[in-house]
Amino acid sequence: MTTNEAVYLVKIGELTLKGGNIKDFEQRLVQNARLFLEGKKTRIFLRAGRMYIEGPLSSAPAIEYTLRHLIGISGWARAIITEKTMDAINRAVVSEAERLRDDGLKTFKIEARRSDKTFPLTSYEIARDSGEAVYEAGILAVDVHKPDAVIAVEVRDRCFVYGSTEKGCRGLPCGTGGRGLLLLSGGIDSPVAGYRMLYRGMKLDSLYFHSHPYTSPEAQQKVEKLASILASYGLGMHFNCVPFTAVQQRIRNKGPAPYATLLLRMCMMRTANLLCDRIGAQAIITGESLGQVASQTIENLSVTNFLAERPVLRPLIGMDKQEIINTAIDIGTYETSILPYEDCCVLFSPKHPVLKADLQEALDIYNALDIEDLIQEAFESREHKRFGWLPE
Ligand code: ATP
Ligand code: MG
Repeated sequence: MTTNEAVYLVKIGELTLKGGNIKDFEQRLVQNARLFLEGKKTRIFLRAGRMYIEGPLSSAPAIEYTLRHLIGISGWARAIITEKTMDAINRAVVSEAERLRDDGLKTFKIEARRSDKTFPLTSYEIARDSGEAVYEAGILAVDVHKPDAVIAVEVRDRCFVYGSTEKGCRGLPCGTGGRGLLLLSGGIDSPVAGYRMLYRGMKLDSLYFHSHPYTSPEAQQKVEKLASILASYGLGMHFNCVPFTAVQQRIRNKGPAPYATLLLRMCMMRTANLLCDRIGAQAIITGESLGQVASQTIENLSVTNFLAERPVLRPLIGMDKQEIINTAIDIGTYETSILPYEDCCVLFSPKHPVLKADLQEALDIYNALDIEDLIQEAFESREHKRFGWLPE
């Protein structure tokens, strides 16, 4: 048994369904894992639809961090590598069983797989033999229907034993789905929307509008924190921050009050177009969900869509708030999103916003603002930061 090495077996997610693309996707997944583990002296390779990550024991925390953030894997396990004999396999299985018992588990079953057909026992015989070893040592009781733990034995080119598997993020590897620009605010929704697109393999940059001095530096720090959390799944993220105070003041001074929020959204789209051109983004992503607030009716969404020069992706459009919150909790953005700092949009927001804007009327009002120069100016004075994917 090798004890001075940490060995991980990784199940590749949906990639197994991807037919012709599978090679590209797998290679991207390996490349992404290597980026996470640069300098950690690990070996990462693919074999028979699995990814293997091996490294010195000291690399185990970094490998596990990677496996918790790497999109494109359905599960993973830390494994023991044994010699290919039943004695060695049974020793490893027993030691896994002891570890599980120490974690408070009571029942188990063995799942054995044998792809090396030169191994003399069938998978059924392997399972029976090593199951007996655990049972006879009185460590755990057998339950083939609803066991607390499954101990896996895989006899491949080498032999692996592992007792607990973790779920992976699933989805498609970052970088396989084009490039998008996320409109990121400090709320609960837009970080989740960003995650949903990362989950489909999109590489993301982010864009945030602030209204200093009406919004506090804390509000911006909060959005930066959200961007850094998304960056940990997205192999880094550029964060662009555009000062929108003058734009909001123009809207307040020259636009009809009920249209203020919608006009602001229109201005955001125009700015997003400029940044998409600059960075080569192919889509704009927002955290809008149909009917959630006044600016998110189908009529009002149609108005903002009209001004966008890229497809606007709204991955949350059919989700309710609780579902969105559940994802925010899972990905670790929720705690930050609920911090109480004001977002620029709630300032200047009208008491009675227009619910079903007429497209032509909205465009006429927008044009009368004569605001494109201000938007250009705001865009030119943007600040830029980059967040990496490793923990600080
Ligand atoms: P969120 O929870 O994402 O803030 P929300 O439910 O508060 O969304 P709105 O405030 O109407 O909804 O914003 C709709 C979408 O517009 C957001 O999800 C986000 O994509 C974008 N957005 C809103 N405010 C900003 C901002 N200050 N900077 C960048 N994008 C923004
Ligand atoms: Mg918001």
